[in-house]
Amino acid sequence: MEKELRPSSIRQALSLRRSTAARPIMYGSGGPIPGDEPVLYLNGCEEFTRMDTDGRLLHIGAGVTAAQLCKEKCVPELLHATAELCPREKRTAVSLGGALCVGNAPAVAALGALDARITVASETGQRTMKLRRFLRGNLSLARDELLCEILISNRKGGSYTCERCGDDMAFAGFVRWERRRITEFRLAFCGPKGELVRYEELERNLIGAVVKDAREMRDPLLEAYERYLPDWDAQRRTTLLVQAGSFLRENNI
Ligand SMILES: Cc1cc2nc3c(=O)[nH]c(=O)nc-3n(C[C@H](O)[C@H](O)[C@H](O)COP(=O)(O)OP(=O)(O)OC[C@H]3O[C@@H](n4cnc5c(N)ncnc54)[C@H](O)[C@@H]3O)c2cc1C
Repeated sequence: MEKELRPSSIRQALSLRRSTAARPIMYGSGGPIPGDEPVLYLNGCEEFTRMDTDGRLLHIGAGVTAAQLCKEKCVPELLHATAELCPREKRTAVSLGGALCVGNAPAVAALGALDARITVASETGQRTMKLRRFLRGNLSLARDELLCEILISNRKGGSYTCERCGDDMAFAGFVRWERRRITEFRLAFCGPKGELVRYEELERNLIGAVVKDAREMRDPLLEAYERYLPDWDAQRRTTLLVQAGSFLRENNI
């Protein structure tokens, strides 16, 4: 078998994925590639680098780079700000799909706060799932599948933050106020193994809240997150909760 496979379309890439054991690689910045292992280079497939809007959704190809996310106007502000956390000299050769596969903490947290969905495909079809499901365990990718697209709402506006906590953890928040009521609210935490934690039941309680109710909810909310977050290193857990508390305060919650 050839050592370097370079398909030029997703269709070809999926066919090679099914018929060979080559490791899929987008830009290869996510870690060393063992010297004797065959590699399926995906960055020659132009379709992977596209961004398209369809109704209310932005479809981001798995090979879209941090540089594209920084440059394109259609990218929601939170994701744009997260791409700017990436050092400038790396931005043209790191993909969003690769960032999810290696568990890059800011990318995981930001896409969690944007309620992203992930489309994976094989030669026999495709399936779309919530980001948390994709990240569970050792990625929800079958032997013959590739990560193809990341789907988020294409609505701009709202208030947001994405902050690192050490090298491998992050917190991101997103809130939208409309006519003095909260219409969207999500807090996302990324743990040291790239795991995404969101408490959706609690997030739903904030929808429709007016300023006065929202402020009263802040302390109970933080206490609930304190109980809910996994048993991560205590100091870094505290830092994440402080970041979440500041985000809530800055947003009238
Ligand atoms: C928004 C953003 C912010 C970032 N911030 C930083 C930062 O602050 N500091 C920093 O050092 N780096 C940063 N990065 C880089 C990031 O940590 C990853 O190293 C990088 O995104 C990996 O991309 P890659 O295309 O090189 O992946 P690759 O190295 O090609 O792949 C990584 C892994 O993912 C798998 N994979 C990749 N694509 C697919 C696919 N389509 N289907 C199936 N499997 C696939 C590969 O098999 C491999 O195991 C950032 C990247 C982004 C997009």
